[in-house]
Amino acid sequence: MTDQPQDSAALDQLERQVERGQLFTHTALSNNAERIIEMETFVYGLIDLLVEKGLATAEEISDKAQAVHQEMVQKGETLGPGIVMRLENPDTPREDFVPVNCAERIHICQAICCKLSFALTAPEIESGHVKWDLGRPYAIRHEPDGYCTHQNRETRGCGVYDHRPGICRRYSCANDERIWSNFDAMELNTAWINDQLGADDRPKLARIAMIRLEDITNTG
Ligand code: SF4
Ligand code: SF4
Repeated sequence: MTDQPQDSAALDQLERQVERGQLFTHTALSNNAERIIEMETFVYGLIDLLVEKGLATAEEISDKAQAVHQEMVQKGETLGPGIVMRLENPDTPREDFVPVNCAERIHICQAICCKLSFALTAPEIESGHVKWDLGRPYAIRHEPDGYCTHQNRETRGCGVYDHRPGICRRYSCANDERIWSNFDAMELNTAWINDQLGADDRPKLARIAMIRLEDITNTG
């Protein structure tokens, strides 16, 4: 009997993930179907025109299409709908990394960085230590309060500390003006945080990334 609230929370979590998974699948399928119909119409029209005008034969067009397909396979561009995965060499240090005294700040920041989103690497996914969002493969999983599934809600510490993703090990909020309006004075950028990192009670199609585009070149 005492396990019921825990069971109910686990079921809620499962239902939410299944809902997100369905949303992802249906959105990806309908987007792809629309694009395929649009492209088919265009391509068949173009082929007919080329053959009619004697500019190419059906065989020449077919050979060319196969060559392009091979090229796309080699570049990994045929993976499918909206999957995100991080490519990272864990041995490459971030040259601009600034260590942060998290223990002294956590009572203020409430480890808000654990609300930021990121994609996992293939080894992190395969290790099974870190959960990914079924509604957005392979991004880290978040809960309705907006925080990462693995964050301990009482201590704000990481529940998978020894196995935490490389991006968590290498993230520093020292130069992240989204988090601190004044890092040295420990003043949070509450305007941005309230606006962008509120509760995550409904599935979102995009989330705020831990590493910003301008930082990507420094992540190794
Ligand atoms: S990295 Fe920054 S935001 Fe995250 S827990 Fe440490 S001080 Fe807080
Ligand atoms: S894995 Fe750990 S450190 Fe990384 S976002 Fe989740 S709780 Fe935070």
